[in-house]
Amino acid sequence: MANKYKVAVIGAGPAGLMAAGLAAEAGASVVLLEKNDQPGLKLLLTGKGRCNITVAEENLADFIAAFGQSGKFLYSALHQFNLEDTIGFFENLGVPTKVERGKRVFPVSDQAADVLAALLSFVKKQPVELIQGGQAQKIIKSKNRITKLFTTKGEILADKYILATGGLSYSATGSTGDGLIWANELGHTVIEPKPALTPIKCRETWIKETKGLSLRNTLISVYQNNKKQAERFGEALFTDDGMSGPIILDLAKKIGQLLATGEVELRLDLKPTLDYPQLDDRLQRDFKKYSNSMFKNSLDDLLPQSLVPVFIKLSGLDPTKAVNSVTKEERKRLLHLFKELKVHATGLEGFNKAVITSGGVSLKEIEPKTMRSKLINNLYFAGEILDLDGPTGGYNLQVCWSTGYVAGKSAAL
Ligand SMILES: Cc1cc2nc3c(=O)[nH]c(=O)nc-3n(C[C@H](O)[C@H](O)[C@H](O)COP(=O)(O)OP(=O)(O)OC[C@H]3O[C@@H](n4cnc5c(N)ncnc54)[C@H](O)[C@@H]3O)c2cc1C
Repeated sequence: MANKYKVAVIGAGPAGLMAAGLAAEAGASVVLLEKNDQPGLKLLLTGKGRCNITVAEENLADFIAAFGQSGKFLYSALHQFNLEDTIGFFENLGVPTKVERGKRVFPVSDQAADVLAALLSFVKKQPVELIQGGQAQKIIKSKNRITKLFTTKGEILADKYILATGGLSYSATGSTGDGLIWANELGHTVIEPKPALTPIKCRETWIKETKGLSLRNTLISVYQNNKKQAERFGEALFTDDGMSGPIILDLAKKIGQLLATGEVELRLDLKPTLDYPQLDDRLQRDFKKYSNSMFKNSLDDLLPQSLVPVFIKLSGLDPTKAVNSVTKEERKRLLHLFKELKVHATGLEGFNKAVITSGGVSLKEIEPKTMRSKLINNLYFAGEILDLDGPTGGYNLQVCWSTGYVAGKSAAL
């Protein structure tokens, strides 16, 4: 005999946990189904285990603009549960927060596990039946209503259903796109899911030698056909075969689009606070300091260790050359390397390294005020399953909190 609930939430990630807790708090009997043995696996990985919960952005329009055209869809949800509400919500649950560079909000404890524990305590305070290790397998509909859900732990009957199964990235955490398949079968348009916020692969073989090197204050400009297409300032790092780090992740979508039409060049300004003459002065001062050394020993004050051999190779200068014999022309070549170190993107990493999935259930078929499907009367969506993807910095979790809140509350009515 199947159990009957007011609301069934599928997927216990950040969006599903929020939705289930809210629906129950609003008085509904709720079942929350999670296929893993443990909810919120991906949440534990967020912010390198520190969980960048949201953004301390006072201007809502700026927050929304970060999502491009689709951002407008979020106005209503954010009016119901905004960025400050998120901070208040977690503080009330005993998770004090702090703001770091780039307006990023983290728990004071720097522990994503504390965020998950708080969410679980919120859910468990309410009449929510949490089924772990139970995978939703099939959704049955009749006309424009869902009538039944088949799961590995039996059938579930509910008045309303909330799909919060996430996207396709980091599938080991459970985000295998099941919800996108069902949405499609139920008649929804699914915008092709693509990996977003991904590291990039690059052609330059010297990158391998610098693997793991983090560049803290770098300005990266993206060029195609010698025309600047985008730029970001902040932190980037070299990987085994390319680049990653916050600014690369944020540029990845643009780089992917540009790669579809041709070659993409990244120009790294390693000294963005100095212009060419200022940097030249600085270089000359260092050369004076090391005037009796070999050229290969003169760059240590200006460059991280692992980049020194790369610069020597790329500059074409004899590493054993005496510093006091480096010519003006040769110094110019070096300045170019500091200000416009070139790397060429050859592709993006796939879903297994993508922080988020772009694409998803078309926003045109969802009511922004309630997260209810415009096609299936008793179906709601929340979180990354939606066709929304923001930059790094807490934007994507805020989507989960706001859409989870709205879906849970609306479904409980
Ligand atoms: C490495 C990494 C770091 C990140 N860091 C940040 C950050 O610091 N800040 C930020 O804002 N965003 C960050 N993100 C993005 C953020 O984690 C996601 O946007 C968010 O987890 C999406 O939440 P969700 O609830 O929609 O989906 P998910 O977190 O993907 O959860 C979906 C849940 O549904 C379950 N499920 C799927 N199919 C079924 C089924 N058939 N039956 C039952 N259950 C099912 C899954 O097991 C999973 O638990 C990061 C992502 C990654 C990968």
